[in-house]
Amino acid sequence: MARPQLRYLGEELAKLEQKGLRFQLRVLEGEQKPVAVFDGRKVINLSSNNYLGLTTHPRLRAAAHAAIDAEGVGSGAVRTITGTMKIHMELERRIAEFKQTEASVVFQSGFTANAGTVSAVLGREDFIISDELNHASIIDGARLSRATIKVFPHRDAAAADRLLAEVAGQPGRKLLITDGVFSMDGDIAPLPALCEIAEKHGAIMMVDDAHASGVLGRAGRGTVDHFGLHGRVDIQVGTLSKAIGALGGYVCGSRELIEFLYHRGRPFLFSTSHPPSVAATCLAAFDVLEQEPERIEQLWENTRFFKAGLKQLGFDTGASETPITPIMVGEGRKAMEFSGALFQAGLLATGIAYPTVPEGKARLRTIVTATHTSEELRQALDILDRVGRRLGVLPVAV
Ligand SMILES: *Cc1c(COP(=O)(O)O)cnc(C)c1O
Repeated sequence: MARPQLRYLGEELAKLEQKGLRFQLRVLEGEQKPVAVFDGRKVINLSSNNYLGLTTHPRLRAAAHAAIDAEGVGSGAVRTITGTMKIHMELERRIAEFKQTEASVVFQSGFTANAGTVSAVLGREDFIISDELNHASIIDGARLSRATIKVFPHRDAAAADRLLAEVAGQPGRKLLITDGVFSMDGDIAPLPALCEIAEKHGAIMMVDDAHASGVLGRAGRGTVDHFGLHGRVDIQVGTLSKAIGALGGYVCGSRELIEFLYHRGRPFLFSTSHPPSVAATCLAAFDVLEQEPERIEQLWENTRFFKAGLKQLGFDTGASETPITPIMVGEGRKAMEFSGALFQAGLLATGIAYPTVPEGKARLRTIVTATHTSEELRQALDILDRVGRRLGVLPVAV
């Protein structure tokens, strides 16, 4: 029981409970796989970001084991003290080469990469022009920077242009920032138009490709590669926690940008670097991306199959263009109820409600992976059909 000074937290939780939005953490037993055991129940797993099935890939496991044997389990310090190991430098070189930029720096997570970079690069006098659906880590970084934040409607490049025009006379620097693939809707940013607008106004262009890396572009190089925009995006962020299958985030760009982040990126300066096994795992993942292109092909084949199935059943999948496929429900309580009933029926599809998505736009968020079999996806569609009709998310079949 909390002491009186913290009792208000219990009241806040009770409010969530009343709205049907209080959740329990689902606990995974064993490996993160397309069919997995959560809370003792075996379910088809449509809720991980393990796009390519790399969390359990034998080459990544072997690389982690070898690094532990050779270099131990921890780095012992932040990067700027004694925590920069050879393997950290090797991973950064590898990522820069992969993304075709001069240099890269690895952070502890995608979250810290975004928050640490935006807050380091911009200051109080500056302006951040940001898509309304950008990730929380961008929003937090923007707040930490103390720059003026101007939000444009989702994917509305013309609105971004107007906002930049409005501040054109101001002395501060301007940053135009977008997710490459939006994490809750699965749609793709209008990057060619945004790059053009950034160039027109002399703004810094930044993309967060957390959900595009390993998914879009040649061998999963991301949206910049997908659209052929190399050299036109100043700052590219990616994550090592999703398709790459391990943990971490990175920033790619010019050598000067990266050197600057070594000096001013607060998570880089004040939080310990990865264990060598994590860096080794990620290095092996980039090998797999280039040597097993069939994984990305299968990811997209599964995506097309599953989306077509959902559409045929009559679900509203919003504007998704990628493996992230929302199933729109509307009311938060209903989305949570749907998700709970699906789980009982053998399917894990997480319900997402306010504040993660706007009020009235609650949904299930599904992600197929390269390693789901077509039989598993057919079963998943079957369960969605049955439970969806029972709960009235779909009209009852005649
Ligand atoms: C998941 C995500 C992040 C954070 O990445 P982590 O490595 O999990 O911290 C950042 N941006 C976007 C768009 C994301 O979806």
